[in-house]
Amino acid sequence: MTDRVAVVGAGQMGNGIAHVFAQSGFNVVMIDVSQEALDKGRATVAKNIERQVKKGIIPPEQQVEILSRIDLNMDLDAAGEASLIIEAASEDSGLKYRIFTDLDRIAKPAAVLATNTSSISITEIGRRTSRPDKVIGMHFMNPVPVMKLVEIIRGLATSDKTTKYVTDIATRLGKTPVEVNDYPGFVSNRVLMPMINEAIFAVMEGVGTPEAIDAVMTLGMNHPMGPLTLADFVGLDTLGSICDVLFDEFRERRFAHPPVLRKMLSAGWYGRKSGKGFYDYSGESPQLNAAL
Ligand code: NAD
Repeated sequence: MTDRVAVVGAGQMGNGIAHVFAQSGFNVVMIDVSQEALDKGRATVAKNIERQVKKGIIPPEQQVEILSRIDLNMDLDAAGEASLIIEAASEDSGLKYRIFTDLDRIAKPAAVLATNTSSISITEIGRRTSRPDKVIGMHFMNPVPVMKLVEIIRGLATSDKTTKYVTDIATRLGKTPVEVNDYPGFVSNRVLMPMINEAIFAVMEGVGTPEAIDAVMTLGMNHPMGPLTLADFVGLDTLGSICDVLFDEFRERRFAHPPVLRKMLSAGWYGRKSGKGFYDYSGESPQLNAAL
């Protein structure tokens, strides 16, 4: 049984992953290069556990215990004790390659190294280690404590044993694992990104406001969240990086990085996490970003 897990990255995905592991009885170390991100990550987990208690999902007496299973650390060496390491740092291939080379040195020889990447090749990441058979994609969905799916992505060199191991763990977390192969964007973002991108191009071309486009997709197509609200929720920086990976591979307009997105990133508008994206989050409820 895996009892110690390391999560690299304490952002919106990292803290959600740490949360679900701690909730299922694992001891977790959450690692980030930023102390602020670690503190914010832990505060988010605490707030989300409290919400689960209020909803009756978690018994109140477990609230403190679950949070106490998550240690914070700024040193990647803290991953050395873990049997499973899940990397959820920013969506940047160079960064992820460096982290995996370091983890290969730091981790126990038998440890499995998983990545939560949205689009970067698992085979390429595995190549940066001496154990590509033990490198795999474990793609959790946002928000992690709520969403059921874990997309399990096998690199070309990933072994059956590693695949079974993470599939069993995802099930133990109460998630539904779905196995797919290593291809740009896997299934989730291969299918989702063209829709979000088209919505962004539609804003750019003045077809409709973000509100109008979101209303068409929620009320007309029964999507729980419109594509531009979803874009802000995922993070526009992450979306831009996913577009770059997909366009680099396929060279098709449906995956192209929309110029308006590039401009928004230059302005520091990353969506909900920075307070502004297609919507402005500074008030009580999201308002249309008037500058667009
Ligand atoms: P985020 O920006 O919220 O968090 C990224 C964190 O990584 C930050 O706290 C940053 O300080 C940290 N970081 C950067 N360099 C690091 C390093 N060398 N070591 C440790 N930590 C480091 O991003 P996010 O939305 O949590 O995304 C994380 C990963 O999850 C990305 O690969 C992304 O593609 C993937 N993902 C995101 C979503 C989503 O909806 N946002 C969904 C599924 C998968």
